[in-house]
Amino acid sequence: MDNQGVLAVVSGFSGAGKGTLIRTLLAGYQNYALSVSATTRSPRPGEADGREYFFRTNEEFERMIEKGELLEYARYVDHYYGTPKEYVLRNLEAGRDVLLEIEIQGALAIRERFPEAVLLFVTAPDAAQLKKRLTGRGTEDMAVIEKRLRRAAEEADGIEQYDYILVNDEVESCAMRMHGLIQAAHARVGNHLEFIRNMRDDLKAQTQA
Ligand code: 5GP
Repeated sequence: MDNQGVLAVVSGFSGAGKGTLIRTLLAGYQNYALSVSATTRSPRPGEADGREYFFRTNEEFERMIEKGELLEYARYVDHYYGTPKEYVLRNLEAGRDVLLEIEIQGALAIRERFPEAVLLFVTAPDAAQLKKRLTGRGTEDMAVIEKRLRRAAEEADGIEQYDYILVNDEVESCAMRMHGLIQAAHARVGNHLEFIRNMRDDLKAQTQA
């Protein structure tokens, strides 16, 4: 069988708990690789360069774009965010399932480039809980929170373009459902084209013999 990893895109409203979900998935199961994005936003307290993000200046980021080093990139609330290409391709090649935690424009760009990617959308059970989680994080001022909530309302219009929706009511069970969806994607026909071609050729050769 073909041995490429599955590319899984995880989007969702800011404050929906994507980060916690992904950490739970990485801790609970092997064979996942989490892509670290580049961004021009400033680190939040506790974030480290190269771990949560590669924190870059505008000039550095634009140079990455020019050199074709990003698989996709987008602007989100006044900043650039993008996925470094090399890490993703290398891990898919090695058979690992690669997680991209990115917003909707990036998700749709990935689907164009990788039609077999699985697009997952994570949401909190309701809008009031989203606001509570965003405000409770205490790392952004009210103006930024308002901008992120407005962006969430815009992104809500795009949810139908995803393959699956995950309601993050309880982290452990939601992570398990997420794992199930990604594992199911391994069996997609499009992920086994070489196997299918070989089988078809062998069958034809047998009937001709
Ligand atoms: P935050 O500033 O809260 O870490 O991220 C803001 C938004 O940017 C989130 O929706 C996150 O998923 C998205 N994001 C993070 N990295 C990337 C990336 O590489 N590409 C794109 N398109 N979006 C990203």
